[in-house]
Amino acid sequence: MPTDFDAIIIGAGAVGLACGWELARFGQSVAVLEREARIGTGVSSRNSEVIHAGLHYAPGSLKARFCSQGRRLLYDFLQSRAVAHQRCGKLIVAAEPRDLPALEGLAARAEQNGVEGISWLNAAEAQALEPGLACVAALLSVESGILDALGLMAALAGEIEAHGGAIALSAPFVGAGPLAGSGWRVGIGGAEPTQISARRLILAGGLEAQACAALIEGLPAAAIPRLFYGKGHYFTLARGRAPFSRLIYPPPIPGALGMHYRKDLGGQARFGPDLEWVDAVDYQVDGARAARFEADIRRFWPALPHDALSPDYAGVRPKLHGPGEPVADFSISNPLPGLTTLFGIESPGLTSCLAIGAYVAALQG
Ligand SMILES: Cc1cc2nc3c(=O)[nH]c(=O)nc-3n(C[C@H](O)[C@H](O)[C@H](O)COP(=O)(O)OP(=O)(O)OC[C@H]3O[C@@H](n4cnc5c(N)ncnc54)[C@H](O)[C@@H]3O)c2cc1C
Repeated sequence: MPTDFDAIIIGAGAVGLACGWELARFGQSVAVLEREARIGTGVSSRNSEVIHAGLHYAPGSLKARFCSQGRRLLYDFLQSRAVAHQRCGKLIVAAEPRDLPALEGLAARAEQNGVEGISWLNAAEAQALEPGLACVAALLSVESGILDALGLMAALAGEIEAHGGAIALSAPFVGAGPLAGSGWRVGIGGAEPTQISARRLILAGGLEAQACAALIEGLPAAAIPRLFYGKGHYFTLARGRAPFSRLIYPPPIPGALGMHYRKDLGGQARFGPDLEWVDAVDYQVDGARAARFEADIRRFWPALPHDALSPDYAGVRPKLHGPGEPVADFSISNPLPGLTTLFGIESPGLTSCLAIGAYVAALQG
């Protein structure tokens, strides 16, 4: 039976748009459905906008593989589409000797993951690059950077449309069922509810991926992993100049990369995210967290002025592991013919999006 599209993608975040572009540019007809009135209002616009090199992730994991591949693809894409970005580099710092084993572990991971551009610096070398930095040693990653995430998504959306694809806004996915033979019938709610069909259905719903999956007829509950919310808060430096040019990271904390510093593309100093396990999505930033941020920041920047931090924004990571559990990998699979599900696309999902798109496109015709 002919279908309206080769592929329907649920979610116009960085990952859904990257999947759409990868299919559209190789001649597939594509529709991306987004429930909000704009693209990229989900996790993809509430993050650190860091292009990760790939040294933090378990060797052999999808995160490690897609991060390195995705980073290389991303720099080329951003460059060729004139999307703002900077290959500013990152210093992962040992503030005290007790941090050194964690850095040694990261250096070993970088080697196992084939991450290029990593070198050790002693304190004097690190401080020559970033005066004002307090550390006993640091790992320098020259391939790390920052990007304009909304610019990336606008460029991907433009590419999809240029290749004949459709992006439907205010078009919430409300359910899907298998067509006789093969393919999917997909329900769209909103102001003008309708149904469309496709050979392939791809779920890239970010924090709502599990809720979307639960609306698919015939998908066993066992194919939908449990979702945990890992909230991260950010603070900004309200007074004074951004102190460093490069990204400054502490050693990782259990379950996340750790509260870090970045000078964003506008020159503003931002700090975060921390990790708070929450039961529901909310984006409030409690100013009382500033004291903890100050203490953590002073480990690598002792000159942080008092009361200089102001609450900024928050994001929520769609995690597949709970507190104290081992960090889970991305989950990308075809649980039913013509259906691809993406769960747990937390960091480094932004860096990885183009590699994820290529992987998903190749999963099944
Ligand atoms: C605090 C934080 C910091 C991070 N920092 C970084 C970083 O520095 N570098 C990095 O590489 N990664 C980072 N990440 C991870 C990265 O942001 C995500 O992995 C990535 O943005 C996920 O993109 P996505 O497209 O899967 O999800 P989203 O951007 O959330 O897109 C999903 C889309 O689906 C839509 N949707 C949901 N339900 C429906 C429905 N029923 N119908 C239609 N549409 C629907 C949503 O509205 C949304 O637009 C961070 C994440 C967080 C939370």
